[in-house]
Amino acid sequence: MSKQKLRSIPAVEKILQALGETGLPRPLVVSTVREALAAIRKEKAVPKFDAVLNYVNSALASLRRSRIQPVINGTGVIIHTNLGRAPLGIDAIDALSAVGARYNNLEYDLSSGKRGSRGDYLEKCLALLCKAEAATIVNNCAAALVLILRQFTSVKPEVVISRGELVQIGGGFRIPDILETSGARLKEIGATNKTSLRDYERAIGKETGLVLKVHRSNFFMDGFVASPSTEELAALARKKRVPFVEDLGSGAIVATERFEGVEHEPTPAEGVRRGVDLVCFSGDKLLGGPQAGIIAGKRRHIAALKKNPFFRALRCDKLILAAMQATVESYLNSQADKSAPNPSIPILEMLGVSMEALEARAGKMIEALAGLPIRLKIGRRQSTIGGGTLPRSALSSVALEIAPETMTTQELAARLRAASPPVAGSVGAGKFHIDLRTVFPRQDQEVVDALKGLF
Ligand SMILES: *Cc1c(COP(=O)(O)O)cnc(C)c1O
Repeated sequence: MSKQKLRSIPAVEKILQALGETGLPRPLVVSTVREALAAIRKEKAVPKFDAVLNYVNSALASLRRSRIQPVINGTGVIIHTNLGRAPLGIDAIDALSAVGARYNNLEYDLSSGKRGSRGDYLEKCLALLCKAEAATIVNNCAAALVLILRQFTSVKPEVVISRGELVQIGGGFRIPDILETSGARLKEIGATNKTSLRDYERAIGKETGLVLKVHRSNFFMDGFVASPSTEELAALARKKRVPFVEDLGSGAIVATERFEGVEHEPTPAEGVRRGVDLVCFSGDKLLGGPQAGIIAGKRRHIAALKKNPFFRALRCDKLILAAMQATVESYLNSQADKSAPNPSIPILEMLGVSMEALEARAGKMIEALAGLPIRLKIGRRQSTIGGGTLPRSALSSVALEIAPETMTTQELAARLRAASPPVAGSVGAGKFHIDLRTVFPRQDQEVVDALKGLF
């Protein structure tokens, strides 16, 4: 028998001692060590103690990296679904900590001292923002869609929708699936590239509960394409007495074309003005707030949705309401202030940063990085907005282009992801790119420190 086979499996306690401080809760560390030892028991030979320790350490490092934590976004994608979509503004953060850490008037009427209703004030502000009669809020836009479908198709089950809009939106979520989940019956009309008003007219019948339009927020079609305007559809739906709902997806409030390279994204107020009965959109895409689904439009429809028993399952908690209230108030304040047309919303600030400002930051960072075994260049690139929004827009941007001399580009990328805080970027043409448009200026030093720490 070899020596290796004689070596005994180390005790959990001995490994825990050798690990020292891990930064993770002890029960999690203990369970990781036990799992590692169980795996070793299945091996033919028992590895050396150091090898066991390395194995456990790498499992713990991977656990540490999977904790939710801040990440520096060097990808240039402003609304990156994998990186948490829109970062919140300072006012929203202040509201979160003030309301979250204390009791609050979530459902308490401070005027009467009696039970109050949740979100009244926010709903009023949202309605103003969307120039609608009324508005409400649920957990996300997918939830908003399900609620709308359940409400309007409970008696008449059919939803009329164009084949060109049976799309997949963020996170493997398909419109046809959501229709089915909601118990609605899909009535597809037209062709992928063309749907006419006549198609809608013919399809709307006694069983039609809803006409749904889904904004193509994450792709675009070009060439031989046509579909009726929102106004035409609204007029038809009104004539046929069927509710008409538009899922806008990204929920831009400001005129996005004011940012260079960005095209116009239909706003909720435009939808309402064009005669849509209800619009719905996400809170954490172009609006720049917390994750939520906002529904705005006709008062009687909003009231009906709020009475639907399913609404209770989708309602937002105090933290979301607090953060959204602060976000919406900054929009309303900026609308009243002609001298500051953009609210202080991080994603809007990122969209508006000039190339000169980005280049100046890149120059400073390159100076700070002098002497490292890397080749550095200021690169110009096009970044996308992401998050299933504005697929046709391309923002010019500035990136640090890094070619390491002592490791591969992939290795550099992996080590930056393991840095604290982690830095995410993109690899292309043998270089690692850190796009500065999505890096907060206050994080420039952290990027410099992360790179210095690697060499
Ligand atoms: C993103 C998107 C949704 C889903 O929104 P969530 O808030 O992520 O649930 C729905 N519809 C459209 C058109 C979208 O772009």
